Amino acid sequence: MTDSKNLNFHNRFTELGPEFYQAKAPDSVTDPYLIDFSPSAAKLIDLSPGEGKSQGFIDRFSGNCALEGAQPLAMAYSGHQFGSYNPRLGDGRGILLGEVLNQKQEVWDIHLKGAGPTRFARGFDGRATLQASIREHLASEALNGLGIPTTRSLAIIGIRELIYRQKPELAAILVRIADTHIRFGSFEYFHYTGQPKNVKRLLEFAIQNYYPDIAKESDRYQIFFQRTIQRTAKLIAKWQSVGFIHGVMNTDNMSITGATFDYGPYGFMDRFVSNHTPNHSDTHGRYAYSQQSEIGFWNLNKLAETLIPLISPETLEVEIQQYQPLFNRFYREEMGVKLGLAILDSEFSQLVQKMFYLLQNRQLDYTNFFRFLANHPNDSYSANNNNEDDELKSWLNQYNKLVEREGVSHAERKIQMDSANPKYILRTHLIQSALDKALKESDFSEIKRLRIILENPFEKQSKIFEKYGIDSEYYSQDTPDKFLCKQTSCSA
Ligand code: AMP
Ligand code: MG
Repeated sequence: MTDSKNLNFHNRFTELGPEFYQAKAPDSVTDPYLIDFSPSAAKLIDLSPGEGKSQGFIDRFSGNCALEGAQPLAMAYSGHQFGSYNPRLGDGRGILLGEVLNQKQEVWDIHLKGAGPTRFARGFDGRATLQASIREHLASEALNGLGIPTTRSLAIIGIRELIYRQKPELAAILVRIADTHIRFGSFEYFHYTGQPKNVKRLLEFAIQNYYPDIAKESDRYQIFFQRTIQRTAKLIAKWQSVGFIHGVMNTDNMSITGATFDYGPYGFMDRFVSNHTPNHSDTHGRYAYSQQSEIGFWNLNKLAETLIPLISPETLEVEIQQYQPLFNRFYREEMGVKLGLAILDSEFSQLVQKMFYLLQNRQLDYTNFFRFLANHPNDSYSANNNNEDDELKSWLNQYNKLVEREGVSHAERKIQMDSANPKYILRTHLIQSALDKALKESDFSEIKRLRIILENPFEKQSKIFEKYGIDSEYYSQDTPDKFLCKQTSCSA
């Protein structure tokens, strides 16, 4: 374990040359202070868990003190936003500080979000609100706790500067750790600006750094695309299974390694409403829960277009046609695990289909339904004052039949299901309470508490609740009515 002073920085991205980025250090800030630090994310780069408390860390990761070996830069990219191509994106407020090699020989990007305007800023202030930073921090660590690939959040560092959105807001910097910051949009930028050589260079760079096992293969471009398809399909199947809605699946927010990337107005499904979108600006529901798999496919098509000079259109077509079957397979597997069932035949598919009708019709809480099911038949469903009505009873009968044919004891099934279905998710009212305390009272304790609970979302965690003297039910109960189907605006 090391302190931030001794981190060994490199930045392979600089090898690509100036067309790929703007060299720029983060702007210095006034009086930075720590809001939250994730010791579990710190482990990725062998950083001591107590480092968040050190002024050296805060100065280095807020832009006030240069990091030796780091070659900070803002990356160039473009992308499709809500279906339309936007040529002018790039890291307007993000700085890739560099990469750190850990003791396991893994390389991690360290990126600051909200580190001052770059040449891609388009007149914006280059800053991030404290509110949005808290939201990304909590979601990154929560998705990681759920076992879903994601960028991580090492820390939120507050800065004593007001920034202006609809109203004056507190600002912060998010310290993000990721395997890569290359997006689908990074390829689109070079493709649409007529730089096929740079598309190729970026592709070779990505293969060499993220898939060195195929670097010498003659069909490495095709394998790269295959892997991107596979990882994207797997990621979205996982989102669907936990009820996570990204909210802004623009191609500039799609990581090429299939990690959840760039959190904005995301949400988790509360009572099940399949076409829910948490994004206030998404009036047509383009990025609604029910659309995410389809949008993954659309985005992969946009990536494919950029690769046409390098992979034949026929091969690209063959590969992309694998997406839907792959997604279906991953999704079915995820659902099998959630339901504690291993035989995934047509009866299983029917059961799943009926389950979604039931969830939607009865407006059941998506997360708590599976926890209830793990206790079934020992528990009856009483949430939302819904007695076990006929529809539910009939579905449960069908479920029981499928459970019985597996020959697994209820006790065993419960253990398996409780390790796959979270007890705690990042519910809107939980985020809101953490935000209220932070923004109105400068009390960051609820952010920390939520982060810790969500690191192990499958367990009851009685010890934490005892330690803090809090009611565990508060964190796992159905979302209160007034927070249901809440939407967040992109600028929040
Ligand atoms: P995002 O919504 O964070 O994915 O950002 C979309 C694009 O807008 C990216 O190019 C960002 O870098 C840029 N952007 C968003 N907010 C700001 C800001 N406050 N200052 C500069 N650029 C920004
Ligand atoms: Mg983005």
